[in-house]
Amino acid sequence: MEDPSRIATQTDRPLEPDSETLRAWLRAAENLVIEHLATLAQQPSWDTEGALAVAQGLVEPIPRTGRPIDAVLARLLPAITKSFNTIGPGYLAYIPGGGIPSAGVADLIACETNRFVNVSMAAPALARMETLVLEWLCELMGLPKGSGGIWTSGGSLSNLAAIVAARVELLGEELEGGRLYFADETHASVPKAARVAGFPERALRRIPVDDRLRMIPAALEQSIIEDRGQGLRPFLIIANAGTTNTGAIDPIAEVVAIARRHGVWAHADAAYGGFFRIVPEAAARFAGIEEYDSITLDPHKGLFLPYGTGCLLVRDPESLRRAHGGHEASYLQDVSGSAGVPNMTDFSAELSRDFRGLRLWLPLQLHGIDAFVQQLSEKLALTRYAYERLREEPLIEILDEPQLSIVAFSVRPPAGHRLDADAFGAELLARVNARRRVFLSSTRIRGRYVLRICIVSFRTHEDRVRDAVDALIEEARALARG
Ligand SMILES: *Cc1c(COP(=O)(O)O)cnc(C)c1O
Repeated sequence: MEDPSRIATQTDRPLEPDSETLRAWLRAAENLVIEHLATLAQQPSWDTEGALAVAQGLVEPIPRTGRPIDAVLARLLPAITKSFNTIGPGYLAYIPGGGIPSAGVADLIACETNRFVNVSMAAPALARMETLVLEWLCELMGLPKGSGGIWTSGGSLSNLAAIVAARVELLGEELEGGRLYFADETHASVPKAARVAGFPERALRRIPVDDRLRMIPAALEQSIIEDRGQGLRPFLIIANAGTTNTGAIDPIAEVVAIARRHGVWAHADAAYGGFFRIVPEAAARFAGIEEYDSITLDPHKGLFLPYGTGCLLVRDPESLRRAHGGHEASYLQDVSGSAGVPNMTDFSAELSRDFRGLRLWLPLQLHGIDAFVQQLSEKLALTRYAYERLREEPLIEILDEPQLSIVAFSVRPPAGHRLDADAFGAELLARVNARRRVFLSSTRIRGRYVLRICIVSFRTHEDRVRDAVDALIEEARALARG
């Protein structure tokens, strides 16, 4: 330190590991991952007991100096294990996905090379890769050439972008009187996004559903006509292509026909269900989705990617640009050109973001789309199997034949049982989950307590679904007896 003006030398670069150190870190991380994945089948389906103590154990003052990787990973691992095992074969709660390992490899490369992909001049070929993958997804949904989309962090923000695009296209700058329509069973991200997009509760029209929990088209049309008659401004219909509760698919073709008749935007929330369209035996259930103005898809559900991978597809990409672009930024003047590839930032609310396109491009290269089709097809068959077996059990009351990969059911406790149906169902869920082989979640439909099995993970196969069904039947019978 003789020369105070001296600039740090090679040896003073604490954040730049040499190759050997980086290799050691990667190897340690690799060991953690490989070991974790290798033992998945034996791991409990969930384990949050003692998680708060683990959380407490992490609390400390900010470390002033670095520590060896093994010590650091030893602190991290318990925090990972004390949680719902979202990547395991027994995770049948909420909407699983799994997180295919090849996507993790893509993320490693994406983070270490850290390219800026949202303005195309900064990485033209990578920016093109991102739009290309979105075009592939458009093709999978049957959207015409010229369609496109944006990457998002998930379905919630895809729905938000769709509402904003529809708003700008049909209402312009004036929101007053705008009305949007969706089924009772629609995901909570829709009313949430509507509020973020500037619409108060009174702008939302919740359309009743039929006995299979699908939007009733006549009720939708009547609501639009009434609103128009009162001088209000219907601008958007959101159809479910697979609800989160039960996988119910709204009458997709009828709904888009109504949208066309009344000149409003048609959006399909296919976050969970959409990818089942690529399975030949299920494709017909989505007939008409190719007519929609926009479609929400969650690759982190139906394509088994890690969380944080959603997208919005649109028939007319310019609508997204009109909704989000057109803001001059002098500090971006050097990169605001197109480089022959559009700047994705002009189509969405984001500027800096992670390289989501690689997270799907690399797995598609390594596995091919047929591997995904095969996996989704298996999930439908497994759902069918669970449904066929559960409906034989008198203590269980299936709500409906599965429309996709969710079996939803209530219970029928024996007459005079100490627990009513809701309490019996809740106790059944607790007992099945206590076995730690599978992890199920519940919901409420028409006021009733409902259990559900949702089969989406690429790691869930027949053995584990059989475990789930066996556990449900055994525990229901045991509970009925005592
Ligand atoms: C999961 C889901 C969402 C929300 O998506 P996130 O990725 O969790 O933000 C929206 N709609 C439906 C139908 C969903 O299943």
